Amino acid sequence: MMAPWSCRPPATTVPARRLPTRREGCQTEISRSHDMDFSLTKEQKLFQSTVREFLEKEAPGWLIREWEEQGQYPYDLFQKFAEFGLLGVGLPEEYGGSGGGLTELAIVSEEMAARGQSLVNVFTPTVEFCRQAILGFGNEEQKRHFLPRIVKGECRMAMGLTEPNHGSDLATLETMAYLDGDEYVINGSKIFTTGAHISHYIFLLVRTDKTASPPHRGLSVLLTPTDSSGLTIRTLRKLGGDAVHTCEVSFDNVRVPRSNLLHEEGKGWHIVMAHLDEERILQGAKCTGTTRAAFEYALKYAKEREQFGQPIGKFQAIAHMLADMASDVEICRLLTHYAIWRKENGLPCSKEAAMAKLVTSEAAMRTSHKAVQILGGYGYTMEYEAQRYFRESKFWEIGGGTSQIQRDIIAKRLGL
Ligand SMILES: Cc1cc2nc3c(=O)[nH]c(=O)nc-3n(C[C@H](O)[C@H](O)[C@H](O)COP(=O)(O)OP(=O)(O)OC[C@H]3O[C@@H](n4cnc5c(N)ncnc54)[C@H](O)[C@@H]3O)c2cc1C
Repeated sequence: MMAPWSCRPPATTVPARRLPTRREGCQTEISRSHDMDFSLTKEQKLFQSTVREFLEKEAPGWLIREWEEQGQYPYDLFQKFAEFGLLGVGLPEEYGGSGGGLTELAIVSEEMAARGQSLVNVFTPTVEFCRQAILGFGNEEQKRHFLPRIVKGECRMAMGLTEPNHGSDLATLETMAYLDGDEYVINGSKIFTTGAHISHYIFLLVRTDKTASPPHRGLSVLLTPTDSSGLTIRTLRKLGGDAVHTCEVSFDNVRVPRSNLLHEEGKGWHIVMAHLDEERILQGAKCTGTTRAAFEYALKYAKEREQFGQPIGKFQAIAHMLADMASDVEICRLLTHYAIWRKENGLPCSKEAAMAKLVTSEAAMRTSHKAVQILGGYGYTMEYEAQRYFRESKFWEIGGGTSQIQRDIIAKRLGL
């Protein structure tokens, strides 16, 4: 399928730089001279504006509201993503992808989040997490089976990691799977599995070895069909992004073919960790989108709304809030693209990815909080969009690892 735009070659073609050895440490990295250039190429700018126009046309605000109020999944939109080539961004052409790399995925992420978390929920679990994990760790048969189907919009996936008793402390999760002949038998439950109810498969992190020490060595990933007997799904209503529900999923002797094991038994944690940096960076891009949208919305309002005979933006108190918001947008973008730049240049980036996730999610919260204030009473009503950014920003501080956990990760990298 040809996308109606072109991406630069996949990031995987960028030669990875040699990482510093432990003895060389930070000093080597600092003394190396890197040209830091985060500017988008001409093609990437064109791609960005094309994606923005596409989303404005196919997912106007009133329609997103309708989907969310009715809790209605936009199947048509997912199909349009496929036709537009969005489901193949960041995937090599040999699997039906449209090429491009992390920067292109970040562009899509920012644009989707700027329009609303529901769009992110339609796109992210299948494309950014499950598809990338299969690309990285699937055997050739799994890649040939799943990847082209995802690109064509024929296969949706959800990410089943979190459990009722295991959120931040994921490594000790309890959902069990044991091998019985050529099938795994799964028992347990997952929570917050976004999109499970409309997905064909769940990327399921399970325990295959109860005795493993440390416990994360006993985890594996099973690509579990949602129509399996014994699998039940309950949807939960939430504060934002409700065109795609978040679900509780229970497994009662669910049988899955052994061939649905991703990579090897006991490698589940490794698979999840391998994608975490990328996931956090892309979440930075999404938070940039929310921050940008909240800022632009409030700026427009401040220029139009008049009190005491002048636009409220002329009052220093309001103008300074907007100055802070504009600064936050730039901080978000710079930190996210710095982390992308490190990843694409083969430099260690776990600390920077955690920083990007932490700083941008808190910037989104700050900015949307100010946006509500700038709109005054109207900001508190459901008639205006400011409340949307406020509700959605709260999720960014929780999903994909809370702010507290990101601070822990950064602190550990500081040797604390
Ligand atoms: C809308 C939504 C969608 C989601 N989608 C998915 C999905 O698709 N798939 C999926 O697998 N998960 C999903 N999640 C789950 C999400 O990743 C978890 O909610 C998150 O990781 C936190 O886990 P928890 O909710 O169990 O909180 P807990 O881990 O119970 O944490 C509760 C509080 O304690 C704090 N805390 C915990 N441990 C520490 C510590 N060591 N130090 C300091 N503070 C700590 C936390 O920061 C938090 O403030 C989703 C969540 C939401 C809200």
